[in-house]
Amino acid sequence: MTGPITTTSHQLLPQQAGRCCGLVAGEVAFAGSGPGDPDLLTLKVARALQEADVILFDRLVSAEIMALAGPQAQLEDVGKEGFGPQVSQEEICARMVAHARTGKKVLRLKSGDPTVFGRLDEELTACEAAGIGYQIMPGITAASAAVASIGQSLTQRGRNASVRFLTGHDMKGFADHDWAALARPGEVAAIYMGKKSARFVQGRLIMHGADRATPVTLVENASRADQRVIETTLDRLPTDLAAANLTGPALTFLGLAPRASAQALSDLKMELA
Ligand code: SAH
Repeated sequence: MTGPITTTSHQLLPQQAGRCCGLVAGEVAFAGSGPGDPDLLTLKVARALQEADVILFDRLVSAEIMALAGPQAQLEDVGKEGFGPQVSQEEICARMVAHARTGKKVLRLKSGDPTVFGRLDEELTACEAAGIGYQIMPGITAASAAVASIGQSLTQRGRNASVRFLTGHDMKGFADHDWAALARPGEVAAIYMGKKSARFVQGRLIMHGADRATPVTLVENASRADQRVIETTLDRLPTDLAAANLTGPALTFLGLAPRASAQALSDLKMELA
């Protein structure tokens, strides 16, 4: 059977009962490992790590999480680095399908949540084309962990009723977005893969009228022991980013400052008013 499991709230078919909880031989589970801290794994994914026969994992899945794999698990690093793929997407799909065909319990582990900038659909399509069943296990996305680390909310009554998840670059290069909308005051965006595109994003936003003083916060290695927070403004983004010399994955927040500074700024505005 192909496709995800869907059940109505009042009905769980016997053949689906087992499938709601664990891995199935000959099928693939697409799972999110969260942002790095093993405590941010879901229990479901932690169990899947124990059960899997083969784990195909991405570069950003932390070593602490891979250490939770069962002793029988065959570990395959299919990590992709920046712009250039290490193992091609076709190769990943082919390996995944081949393992499932031999009756293995396959875990395809992606960082964060597999549905966020994870090229999940290409892999789902490969399963469907091969007649292989799958399920999707969500994880905590980097934006959730990063925003928690700065004491902010992704949405706030009176400030932003929506939040955008953007990618700094896509397959064609720097990604295009609705810059005019993003440039409006109060907008909040979580920019994934935004280091290389910082100058481009800054230029587009300023061109569309964004305030140069808009707060921008970068969180490197969110939830990990080496987490760093860089507080800057749209104006200073490329300069401060270059000076910070980030080597780990970083999430860029447009329109958010760490809570303490945001509070101090609004207090100052009140005093001056
Ligand atoms: N599926 C992942 C995102 C994959 S794209 C998720 O839901 O989080 C990879 C990008 O995610 C990185 O370039 C970076 O922008 C972000 N990212 C992943 N882990 C991160 C972490 N621990 N801290 C900060 N950003 C992270």
